[in-house]
Amino acid sequence: MTAPWSQRLAERAASHRARGLWRTRPTLSPAEALRDFAGNDYLGLAADPRLAEAQAEAARRCGAGARASHLVCGHLEVHEALERRLAALTGRPRALLFSTGYMANLGTLQALCDRYTPVFQDRLNHASLLDGARLAGAPSRRFHHRDLADLERLLARAPHDAPRLVVSDGVFSMDGDVADIAGLARTCRAHAAWLMIDDAHGLGVLGEHGDGCAGRAHGVDEVPVLVGTLGKALGSAGAFVAGDEALIEHLIQFARPYVYTTAQPPGVAAATLAALDLLAAEPERRARLQARITRFRREAATLELPLADSATPIQPILLGDGARTLRWAARLRDAGLRVGAIREPTVPRGEARLRITLSAGHDDDALDALLEGLAACRREEHA
Ligand SMILES: *Cc1c(COP(=O)(O)O)cnc(C)c1O
Repeated sequence: MTAPWSQRLAERAASHRARGLWRTRPTLSPAEALRDFAGNDYLGLAADPRLAEAQAEAARRCGAGARASHLVCGHLEVHEALERRLAALTGRPRALLFSTGYMANLGTLQALCDRYTPVFQDRLNHASLLDGARLAGAPSRRFHHRDLADLERLLARAPHDAPRLVVSDGVFSMDGDVADIAGLARTCRAHAAWLMIDDAHGLGVLGEHGDGCAGRAHGVDEVPVLVGTLGKALGSAGAFVAGDEALIEHLIQFARPYVYTTAQPPGVAAATLAALDLLAAEPERRARLQARITRFRREAATLELPLADSATPIQPILLGDGARTLRWAARLRDAGLRVGAIREPTVPRGEARLRITLSAGHDDDALDALLEGLAACRREEHA
């Protein structure tokens, strides 16, 4: 490596390590014994053999890869079928498939906004939404978390004669709380702004049909731009944007992260279609998940754990200090449990937390073990 580069990398590494922020990736084998309370497989679909079989069958029939981008010759019937299903699920005229949620957000913001388009973002929005505004060169104005009055104030100050976009997570990924979709929609209407909701963690979990927090209950008039991801509750991979004909055609023409990338493998789309079948056919998965959430919150409260105010499968334990959070996570790992240890920069400094996620795939034994592990963490701190 040439000297300026090795120096730059070494300096970044040293400062990151010195701040205790260096991250490593655990390498998991399929037989991994840890009980997983860190992932986003809320319905327990990721390992369902019916998804794997759908994926394998489509790969045998269509090939392992899509061969090209959607606009060249990579847009296959299975992609088209999936887009129709996602539009129907969310109650939108159309949907457009992306390879990842990160790219869906980059592509949507880049295609809709330019440097004259103010983007109003909840302070706790996902990194991909902030990065999308950056890719567009659009100025992001951040409003206080779930604070409609603060959003109002910012909107009132911005010029009214140009398009403006308000953007929010549906379910906040590190907190588990849910945006006030109706309130946001009302505020946007009053200021002639568009509302974009990223429902990565709501899709499959919330809504009467698993259609998320901004699905059929809030149509295109309220939420013109809806993003959902397929690698979380649906256990597969990819993402989509749902909206009206004009929006989707605009994205097909102008969203560079859509245009200049290979279409997702047909097997992945087929697995997602299988997941959507199961979402409709097995509503008991969502009921089971809800029962897990209720039980966890009830018993964690009796342990006097610093729970967040969340009714979703994302149940953070707000420990505050990064080192303390790592200690608890390590203690739980020794007990055979994996939880997320979330620190800055993912959350603000001083707001480190265990990010515990519940799933319909957990049985009572797993939840017993989790609650016992958390109780032990507390006991050791007080010892
Ligand atoms: C996970 C996530 C994404 C990114 O989705 P991927 O498909 O994993 O790239 C986007 N937005 C939010 C809120 C997320 O939690």
